Parts: sequence; structure tokens; C-alpha cells
Amino acid sequence: MIKNIILMGPPGAGKGTLAKMLLKEYDLVHISTGDMFREAMKAKTELGILADSYISKGHLVPDEVTIALVKERLSREDTLKGFLLDGFPRTLPQAEALEKIAIEISRPIEAVINLECDQKELIRRISGRRVCKVCGAPYHIDTLKPKVDGICDTCGGPLYQRNDDNEESLKVRLQHYVVDTKPLIDYYEDRNLLVNFNSLVALDVLFDEISSFLKK
Ligand code: ADP
Ligand code: ZN
Repeated sequence: MIKNIILMGPPGAGKGTLAKMLLKEYDLVHISTGDMFREAMKAKTELGILADSYISKGHLVPDEVTIALVKERLSREDTLKGFLLDGFPRTLPQAEALEKIAIEISRPIEAVINLECDQKELIRRISGRRVCKVCGAPYHIDTLKPKVDGICDTCGGPLYQRNDDNEESLKVRLQHYVVDTKPLIDYYEDRNLLVNFNSLVALDVLFDEISSFLKK
């Protein structure tokens, strides 16, 4: 079983949705930098206020801040059982820092799952995305509707639209993806860790494909 995993892909490729499905099946620690920032924003901590000033405009949170956050989380005992990094690394300096941290804590990355998706579909997915305010579960107004309008199936919390899921921020986020994150594809290919998956297929199909890869 592969257990120290990076989930990578452009915004809207389905990282969050897939992560939730994988975590139901596999006992891994979920480390989502986006979720961690959103939690800090909700609690209005110093980190949250700082992160908000970048995230709401579609920009990346500075590397030092993000790396320190992930380092602290990865260093905890529970990541020994395996972890799923979701949304980190997103820049080359982050990937290089992660490589060092992984050596320090003796938990080497075993695979990088790269979700491929075309730009038109990313825009469609993100502009219709709704998220549960309480548990973070993702929905879509056309393709992943809750049973009751505006209410989370899992926890009954209210659904909302993230304030970075608007057209303007999305444009900036996609640019950051191309400029900052896409180079990581070569980085991990060079290290023989990259595995590509087409995220345009149905979610359950994609999940099965990733599952059978992880069980290898
Ligand atoms: P998405 O994949 O849909 O963009 P995330 O929840 O992963 O959503 O991230 C939301 C925002 O949080 C990003 O647009 C970025 O501003 C910030 N963020 C998340 N992860 C990182 C990271 N590794 N480095 C810098 N900023 C990050
Ligand atoms: Zn919920």
C-alpha cells in the first residue's frame, strides 16, 4: 500500500472531493493547506487574517508561511500511519522544502497523483462550486447537488460559495497554477514519483483508478 501521497492538480480538478473519498477508505492524515487556511480565516487568527489577504484575491500565501504550517503538521506523531497532502506543494521552493522535511522525519513521499483537467471544465466546476460551511464537503449546483437545496448531506450545515470562487480570483489562480505549480510536474517526473490521472472521467471511475494504483 502506498501511503505518503501528494494530490496535485489545478484548482477545480477535484482534489478536495477525491481526498474526502480516499480518506473514507484509507486511514491517512489529511493535510489540506487550503482547509487549514480557511479554518484560520474562520477563527480570525493572525494566520487567518494574513492568509485571507492573499486568498481572496486568488494569490498564493507566501512560501515561508505555508511551509512552516505544513512542517509543523507533518512532524506530528500521527502522520506515521501515512498522509495525503492536498494542495501542497504548489511552488518549487515548497517542493524543495518538503523534500528536506520528509528526510528529517523519515517519511518519504511515495507517489504524486496528478489530476489532469482542461481549462474550460475547471471554470465550469469552480463557478458552480458550493462548500459546506461546517464540514467543508464540496458540492456543485448542477452536477453534485445536495439532497436538500443549500444543506450539506453529511452534516446538515449550510452551503456557501467560497469568496475566491469568483471569475476574477479564478483567473489569477489559474495563472498561478501555470506559472508556479505546473513546473512541479517535471520536478516529480524526474524523481519517478508522478502518476497522471484524467479527472474528466466520472468521479467513481477516477476513484477506482486511483484506489487500484494505491493498493499496488
Ligand atoms: P483550490 O485547489 O480550489 O485552489 P485550495 O483550497 O487548495 O483550493 O486553496 C485555496 C487557496 O489557498 C489557494 O488559492 C491559495 O491562495 C491558498 N493556498 C492553498 N495551498 C497553498 C499553498 N501550498 N501555497 C500557497 N497558497 C496556498
Ligand atoms: Zn457538512
